[in-house]
This record gives sequence, structure tokens and C-alpha cells, in this order.
Amino acid sequence: MNMLGLSYILIINFLTSHCEEQYCSIDSTEHCTEKKEDNLYNKVSNEQYIKYYNAIEEAEKSYKACNNTNNGCFKHVIKRDLKPFKEKGISKDLINIAKSRGTFYQIIRGKLYRQKECMFPSRCVGVEYFLLKLAPELSDIDLVINVRDYPQSSKHFGGPLPIFSFSKTPQYYDITYPAWAFWEGGPAISLYPRGLGRWDELRASLNEASKNTPWENKENRAFFRGSRTSAERDNLILLSRRKPNLVDAQYTKNQAWKSDEDTLYAPPASEVPLEKHCKYKYLFNYRGVAASFRHKHLFLCQSLVFHVGDEWTEFYYDAMLPWIHYIPVSKDANQTVLEELIQFAIDNDELSKRIAMRGRDFVWNNLKMWNVTQFWKKLLKKYSKLLTYKTSLDKDLVKIEREERP
Ligand code: UDP
Repeated sequence: MNMLGLSYILIINFLTSHCEEQYCSIDSTEHCTEKKEDNLYNKVSNEQYIKYYNAIEEAEKSYKACNNTNNGCFKHVIKRDLKPFKEKGISKDLINIAKSRGTFYQIIRGKLYRQKECMFPSRCVGVEYFLLKLAPELSDIDLVINVRDYPQSSKHFGGPLPIFSFSKTPQYYDITYPAWAFWEGGPAISLYPRGLGRWDELRASLNEASKNTPWENKENRAFFRGSRTSAERDNLILLSRRKPNLVDAQYTKNQAWKSDEDTLYAPPASEVPLEKHCKYKYLFNYRGVAASFRHKHLFLCQSLVFHVGDEWTEFYYDAMLPWIHYIPVSKDANQTVLEELIQFAIDNDELSKRIAMRGRDFVWNNLKMWNVTQFWKKLLKKYSKLLTYKTSLDKDLVKIEREERP
């Protein structure tokens, strides 16, 4: 059957499930008239929905779940990011140039060393958690890790530099590594004063929260809470002000907040813990300065994720597919487009639930701490083979040891 055929069947199913003539008895004409008006409305809206039905049908037709034995879902990212260095390898000179753009680390005889200063100490701790774990099984390497939000090796300025960054767009050469925030050092908002982190713990608490609010009990509303780290978020906030029954999206303060102007001329809203997001059916994810850490958490609510924009990625993003695991939204979507998409999700509850559950299952099954550690391991093993020189310990570095925790 062609796509148009399926779309029309979907529409007809949708319409007949809303008003079937045979159920209209002679003495309930008033009720029937009401239904017919409904029908007319639904026809218009369903014709608007054809593009979404088609997109879902296309995506499902070609979808084959990736095989994640051995972390296979993510291996193409390592291959892609190391490819620019394959031909000539990574020389000492290249590392020396890269050093000014990140934090310099060495792994020597199974021990981890770092330059004394780290621009964001808790981010370095988040990175070091994984490096310390892996150091005993790695050969000697030099590496430059960027713990700023923004990537550093632009394709528009000079050749590729071997710099590890947590997030980038296709315009950058940076080598993607799993964000520090899987362990520690994420944004320090009032709810997470030590900084968002501990993905292992949040996985468990979000899973619990999702069980307490199964799909059928969730509010039929879209939800977003966060600060104005990118103006791309404005249209959803404005839609929420016009249609609060459709979407609850409000800006919170961040450290840069100075006045209501920074929250789009409204007082800042209170922060909402990630677990409380689970009470809504539709959760929005927007980029911030780079990719936003909230992304992976939203899926574990077993809510439907609306992911806006496709440029900024973390290491696991590309393994998740639009219309299969989430609803893709253009970064330029205006209020009308956002409203139509949310209404589409509301009017197609079974489809919405199906996508939400696939998204949840992907993150739950494939993004465990084990997968994160394995990604680091494979990345560093492949990276070490590209170094064209034998490294030796830089005496200015400090030895990093495992932090003792209470
Ligand atoms: N966050 C939250 N509840 C809020 C606001 C923010 O849980 O009410 C979390 C969210 O996980 C996000 C982080 O705090 O990853 C920072 O959010 P913000 O919108 O300030 O910045 P982003 O990193 O998304 O650009």
C-alpha cells in the first residue's frame, strides 16, 4: 500500500472512531449534529496531519533497531570523529596547539595526570571518574579535553585539532566524549546545588517517577522548564502564555539572570525537578549553549519527547531516530507549528504512546553507565593508535587519584 493510501485509512479510522452514523438513533439527532460538526473539524485537522502520518510510516518502514552488543549503536560516532586524523595521525605538535583550547591530561603506565588548573573543577571531576576507571587498561596517551560547553575546532578555521568536547554540530572537528554530567558537574541549579550529575541515580529515580505516572494518568499538556540559554525556546514560552491549557512552558533563572528581561519579560518561574516532569505527556527538549543535559532524562519519564533542532548532539543522539524515538521539531518552528504538533500528539494518543515507549526503551536499555564507560574505552583505545609519537610524563602535571566519598 502506498503512503497516501495508509494516510487516508488512518484518517478514516480516526473519523469513524469519533462518529459512526449507525450509532446515531433517530431520537438523538442533536447529539448527531454535534458529532457531524466534530467530523468536519477532524477532517480539516487530519488533512493537516497527513505529513506527520507519512513521516511516521516512512520512518517505521525503514527502522531497524541497532545492535548494541558491544556498544554497536554508538561506534559510528567514534569512527566519524577520528576519521580526519586517520591519514596523518596525531603528532606532538598538533597536541601542543590543541593544549591552549582545553585541559591537558596524560595517562602514563595506567595512572592519570592533569595540568594543575581546570577551568571548571567539578566538570573535570566528572570526566576523571571515567578516566580513572579506564586508565589501568589503556596505553600511554596525551589528550586535550575541553570542559567548556562550546566545541573548539571549527571546520571553517584551520585543520582538525584533536580536542575532546561533549557536544558539537557538524561544523566542528572536535572528538565527541560522554559529558562530565553523567557523573558530576552539570548545571548547578537550586535543585541540584552540587550540579546535575549521577546519571545512575537519576535513571533509578526517573524510572520510579514514570511508574507512578503511567501514560494514561499523565496530563495532556506539553511541558518545559528551564532558563533562556537559547532564544530558540521563546516561541514555546509565548505559546504557553497564550494557551496555558495546551502547554506549560516557563523560564527559570540561571546564574546570568539580571532582570525579568532575561525571562522574556515575566518573573522567573520556580524550578521543577526532573522527576516532576513525568506528570506531563509531552516534554520539550531545546539546545542551550550546546546540547542540553535534560535530553536523556526526559525519555525516562515515559513521556513523548519533542526534540527541537538537530544540529547539536552528544555521543548517543545519532542512534535515536526522529518519529521513531521522538517527535522532531524544526528550530525555527513558530507558535502555529508548535501548536499543530502538540495537537497532533493529543489527537493521536496511540501513536504518541508508541513513540514515547520506544524512546524510553532506547535510553533505558542502551544508555546505562556501562555503555558510557564502554564508549570512553573504545574511543580512547582507537585514539591511542593514532598518536604518532611515544609520550612521556610531563613533570608539571599533577597526579589524579580517585576521590574518597563519604
Ligand atoms: N532543570 C530542571 N528543572 C528546572 C530547570 C532546569 O531540572 O526547572 C535542569 C535541566 O535538567 C537542565 C539543567 O537544569 O539540564 C539546566 O537547565 P537550563 O534550561 O538552565 O539550561 P540548559 O543546560 O538546558 O541550556
